[in-house]
Amino acid sequence: MLDQLSGKLFIDGDFVTGRGRPIPVENPATLEEIGSITLASQEEIDAAVAAARKAFPDWATAPAKVRAAALHRLGEVIAADADAMAKVMTLEQGKPVNEARGEILKLAEACHFYAEEAVRVHGEIIPNDTTDSESHVVREPIGVVGAITPWNYPAELIGWKLCGALAAGCTIVIKPAELTPFTALAIAAKVKEAKIPAGVVNVVTGSGSVVGQALVEHPDTDKIAFTGSSAVGLHIQKTCPRIKRLSLELGGNCPMIVTAKADLAAAIKGAARRSFRNNGQICIAINRIYVERSVYEAFVAGLAKAADALTVANGFTQPDADIGAMASAEPLNKTIDHLKDALAKGARLAAGGDRPQGEAFAKGYFFRPTVVADCDHTMKVMTEETFGPLVGVMPFDRLEEAVKLSNDTPYGLASYLYTQDAAEIRHLSRRLDYGNVAVNNVDAGVMNAPYGGRKQSGVGYEHGREGMLEYFNFKHIRIRLDQPEG
Ligand code: NAD
Repeated sequence: MLDQLSGKLFIDGDFVTGRGRPIPVENPATLEEIGSITLASQEEIDAAVAAARKAFPDWATAPAKVRAAALHRLGEVIAADADAMAKVMTLEQGKPVNEARGEILKLAEACHFYAEEAVRVHGEIIPNDTTDSESHVVREPIGVVGAITPWNYPAELIGWKLCGALAAGCTIVIKPAELTPFTALAIAAKVKEAKIPAGVVNVVTGSGSVVGQALVEHPDTDKIAFTGSSAVGLHIQKTCPRIKRLSLELGGNCPMIVTAKADLAAAIKGAARRSFRNNGQICIAINRIYVERSVYEAFVAGLAKAADALTVANGFTQPDADIGAMASAEPLNKTIDHLKDALAKGARLAAGGDRPQGEAFAKGYFFRPTVVADCDHTMKVMTEETFGPLVGVMPFDRLEEAVKLSNDTPYGLASYLYTQDAAEIRHLSRRLDYGNVAVNNVDAGVMNAPYGGRKQSGVGYEHGREGMLEYFNFKHIRIRLDQPEG
């Protein structure tokens, strides 16, 4: 599959060979080149946006059932080819094949979810103060969407935008991350197979500063749907040259609170999963854990044991490994920097702390899942997004202190709470200043409920009905029912 996708762009329903400079793509587990993509030129970006614009009127006005059927078909062809698509993802991103397959199936689930939402696009009639007039509020698709996505979830983060936009009647130009372009192109191949009309979905590849920025600045994109770092999100907001709709899903620095009334075994299991899955390269990864002092040492020992038990391996040759290679040198170096900083400031290493030993790990970006205890808020691990397999743990004495520490961050994406006490659940979950609070579980995002961040973690929502509302303009039509008034 990679051979067919190398160097391609997907414009107006066809794969075309890009004319720009080739950019190599490497396997992060072996550092071997697996293919290359092209840096799309301004002319090619213009062609993609023009194709989306041309396709927009027919797609926007197609019966909702037609759009729904197209999304269902897309979900079906994606699920049918999940194995091959998962291998593509593993080769460019590093996560184990089984986990990548799970992500592809989530993408298919998003297609079906938004197919079902597409037929429920209806407005409201609001009675006015007078009896002889009323307000009709109708939803109209925004237009052409520029979607810019990161590398940590190369399929799902495209899917939420693609499916929400298409269900609403928008058309889209996708710019995937440079590290993971082939998953995006593989999705484009499925768009073609599902016979979604030409121009409705387009993919252009290349760097963020050139191709991503060109979509942001393009006079004919009506909305930018972005997932990525807060720094780039802010840059997009500042450099967008004209008023256009923006949704920004940005970074996180997510806390977990474990009280003395928690089911400790469940909390440890949840912490190990949400701190280390995908090597912690998740915007909703648990970065820092506050544990009530009476259960603190037991929690640290349990989490260290759980971290040590996770298998780290080349995720292509060992599809069922818990953790594969990190996606690139950048998050690996940041992890090492945050670890060194914590240890220099007095943290205690409880698990991991280095690269795994052995020939299989000689070249790739591997790091063992790492737990540092006795942390405080002078340390980067507690105050910045690491985006790596590193978690900090800190004791607390009073619940209010745990809430204050949890909210002591410019981010507001997801937070986690483990306690069996109903009063603590009510009290703490309302006080956590986050868009998502997961209580006694670590799945902060589910397909049919809104998912979004606060503060520097972004604006707008994905998932759920709210994820589709992002792609509409609301129009108010006020109708005088009897005599026209002057
Ligand atoms: P990034 O911000 O570096 O890049 C994201 C995308 O933006 C890439 O496609 C990149 O090419 C593009 N880009 C870079 N500069 C640009 C510019 N000037 N104009 C337009 N586009 C530009 O992020 P990353 O390193 O790929 O991903 C990691 C970050 O993403 C983390 O901070 C993580 O928390 C965040 N993230 C957030 C969510 C969420 O739902 N809130 C989900 C996943 C990842």
